[in-house]
Amino acid sequence: MNAKPEQISWHERARALEFRTQAFIGGRYLDAASGATFDSINPATGKLLARVASGDKEDINRAVTSARAAFRKGGWANLKPAKRKRIMLGFAELILKHSEELALLETLDMGKPISNSLKGDVPGAARCVQWYAEAIDKVYDEVAPTGPGALALITREPLGVVGAIVPWNYPLLMAAWKFAPVLASGNSFVLKPSEKSPLTALKVAELAVEAGIPPGVFNVVPGLGQTAGKALALHMDVDCIAFTGSTATGRMIMQYAGQSNLKRVSLECGGKSPNIVMADYPDLDKAATAAAHAIFDNQGEVCSAGSRLLLQEGIKDAVLEKVQAIARTMQPGDPLDAATLSGAIVDEAQMKRVLGYIEAGRNDGASIRFGGRRVREDSGGYFIEPTVFEGVKPTMAIAREEIFGPVLSAITFKTVDEAIEIANDVIYGLVSAIWTRDITTAHRVARALRAGTVYINCYDADDLTVPFGGVKQSGIGRDKSLHALEKYTELKTTWIDLS
Ligand code: NAD
Repeated sequence: MNAKPEQISWHERARALEFRTQAFIGGRYLDAASGATFDSINPATGKLLARVASGDKEDINRAVTSARAAFRKGGWANLKPAKRKRIMLGFAELILKHSEELALLETLDMGKPISNSLKGDVPGAARCVQWYAEAIDKVYDEVAPTGPGALALITREPLGVVGAIVPWNYPLLMAAWKFAPVLASGNSFVLKPSEKSPLTALKVAELAVEAGIPPGVFNVVPGLGQTAGKALALHMDVDCIAFTGSTATGRMIMQYAGQSNLKRVSLECGGKSPNIVMADYPDLDKAATAAAHAIFDNQGEVCSAGSRLLLQEGIKDAVLEKVQAIARTMQPGDPLDAATLSGAIVDEAQMKRVLGYIEAGRNDGASIRFGGRRVREDSGGYFIEPTVFEGVKPTMAIAREEIFGPVLSAITFKTVDEAIEIANDVIYGLVSAIWTRDITTAHRVARALRAGTVYINCYDADDLTVPFGGVKQSGIGRDKSLHALEKYTELKTTWIDLS
């Protein structure tokens, strides 16, 4: 990476940008077998960006066949770990070398601010590839304590062909959380990116092959969920589906596995995460700042968004005033302006969905303290102001359902037990947070919250070394950390008789 985002003329770059729009199968770009395409729309302008190959059963079949053949050939799966590591480190370098192009593709395709794509998503994806590359030759297998009469080896083997189906909110990063551990474990890979944001996936596949990953190991089939996604999840020769997306789709993915070959399924689904602030927390400004970023960053299109702010009685106004002050600085702007902090909502349908929830909140009797409107309509794009609801009751739709937009629901409570009760009373359990100076309260709440992650006196702290994922209907399995390798490998026991 070289220039700072503000030194680059992004609009000019965008005009010169070329898109990869075909499926990537067996190391080559190909049209969909049917010749069909779907439109990729720039959510900041409402205008057509590109026509992208719309893959279906036949394309998925080609990709899986190619992935299986590459796996059988062993050019990747049987490579010495140190060699696989070197190739993956080269792949990460190529991602970094193409940072500006990838960041631009991401921003044009899904509407997030260019500074975020350039400083967050793209280097985050490269780091993820580096981290799993570094792990490859440091993970050992086991010898079981069977006693002197036998030698029992417990080894981990790649599964074979892993399919991934990913969403549009962090298109490249969510894909990287899958392909980095999948490739590190020696599997072949077929990616179905979201039809709302396929462009970075199509570019990165080319970089994988350029880095030396054998053709057929890394395939990308763009297409709709109902066609390409379903075909991948139903395929009889796919060993595992790693899914990130909504809980509703996650439910279907499990059914497809049951209807086909009982493939392994991991699900990273939705959330409605509670962010609890106790009155004893000494730095309410800090808690409020984190609360604002927890819901307004990435236009609120974040699975772990702190969409429910639970405030102990007496501190509501102090916290919400600060949240509101930050919201004011995060008004949506042109995603290609390096100073923009909030961009466009991914498409018109999602914008309408978010506005529908804002309407429902009003109708249910909550009051809007800040925001609540569509803005920048003249641009032709889909922008919504950061929005803060107060007077929210835990029974309201805006307190229970995932909105996936910049809408915060503030709920007040009296006692810590009441906060725990409200926090746990949703179908989700992705992340949660508690702000308090009392160590007993902190640990008691951390134990009681049903969530994959509990933050204490912080929100959205993040590192590749820690697992990420949910409980309840937020999902099954974990991304990131060495634990992710468990999802993409199978245990084998080899028993040798020494008697
Ligand atoms: P979505 O479920 O609509 O789509 C996700 C993916 O599934 C897309 O690629 C889509 O094409 C595909 N799909 C849709 N229907 C399908 C079907 N019938 N069969 C197979 N595939 C199908 O979700 P979305 O709107 O793209 O993403 C937003 C959701 O993702 C939110 O719920 C968010 O919380 C969740 N998410 C979770 C995490 C996490 O780590 N837990 C991370 C990011 C996003």
